[in-house]
Amino acid sequence: MSSAAHAGAVLTINLAAIKSNYRLLKSKSATARCAALVKANAYGTGVEQVAPALQDAGCRIFFVATIDEAIALRGITGAGPQIFVLNGLPAEASGAFEAHDLTPVLNDLGQIERWAKGARILGRALPAALHFDTGMSRLGLPEDETRRLMDDPTMIDGLNVEYVMSHLVSSEEPDNPLNGRQLETFSAIRGGFPHVAASLANSSGVFLGPKYHFDLVRPGVALYGANPQPGHLNPMREVVRLRVKIVQVRCIDAPQTVGYGAAHRVSGPTTIATLPLGYADGYLRSLSDRGFCYLGGVRVPVVGRVSMDLTTVDVSSVPPQLVFPGAEVDVIGESVPIDDLAERGDTIAYELLTALGARYHREYVSGIADE
Ligand SMILES: *Cc1c(COP(=O)(O)O)cnc(C)c1O
Repeated sequence: MSSAAHAGAVLTINLAAIKSNYRLLKSKSATARCAALVKANAYGTGVEQVAPALQDAGCRIFFVATIDEAIALRGITGAGPQIFVLNGLPAEASGAFEAHDLTPVLNDLGQIERWAKGARILGRALPAALHFDTGMSRLGLPEDETRRLMDDPTMIDGLNVEYVMSHLVSSEEPDNPLNGRQLETFSAIRGGFPHVAASLANSSGVFLGPKYHFDLVRPGVALYGANPQPGHLNPMREVVRLRVKIVQVRCIDAPQTVGYGAAHRVSGPTTIATLPLGYADGYLRSLSDRGFCYLGGVRVPVVGRVSMDLTTVDVSSVPPQLVFPGAEVDVIGESVPIDDLAERGDTIAYELLTALGARYHREYVSGIADE
């Protein structure tokens, strides 16, 4: 992180927008509780600042991916909020879960057995969620293990199973028949645990309607401003803004190429602005010749290859008095929605967010100035 005064790139995270996004997701899910997914450093936005903001907005249930993330989060939230660890319970980890009051999402019978054994040794019930695979083939009890557990419920004796859960494969496509199929499979599994709360929906799942909400929704990316309903107006508030200052301006008169590999060719008079960010900052190389920024209200395309520390944009169409070293360029946010930029880079907002670089000067704003 650099200091504000000489920062060439400033990343602004709007905590008020995150809170308002949390409240919107919660209100969409009516009677269900609303957790917050803060894995991967709160999707790159900074868990140390974001988790307290979410607590302030009323969030009491958090999900992370790993034990280390969970231990760090416990240090941030203090006692109270429930912290679930999606990647489950590795061997030798029971002590850490116990010590930091973490709840494992148990993903197979081996993990269930391990946690149940811990409960027997301690002589008290241990909290858990059970994750069932209904189509992702990634995490969660597969079909055969699910059947074995249903046939022998004593396997979870000693556990306080608080949720049964599953994860949607294509929730951002409301018309995809997979959604309905997963809902049906999950509902059948859930029937085997009539007294346990259930959870299925991620961000986009919240927008699939009440049938998908069950007792707890688990949004992540929408909290951070990405559009949970691609193709529709984004109902979420923008959270991330990235602005950079032009490092150098190059006026080209004769035919010439720009950047590594001479991948971009200019034939006539062209003005190129060089920006202080590159793929080392999470400005993906796939944005070469495809990304875009805004300068003085004018859309300026990335030309040539994105390199490690620098990116070049064609600013020929911008009034010359606005093009100078130090002039501010909008890279993400405002006129550059993160979902649109991701699409240009053949990826998704999740990847752009979690790749946000460590070299940006980060500013957290909690005001409601632009609400
Ligand atoms: C990451 C994750 C979520 C959140 O998904 P978003 O699409 O970011 O809302 C929910 N559930 C599970 C199991 C996840 O791994």
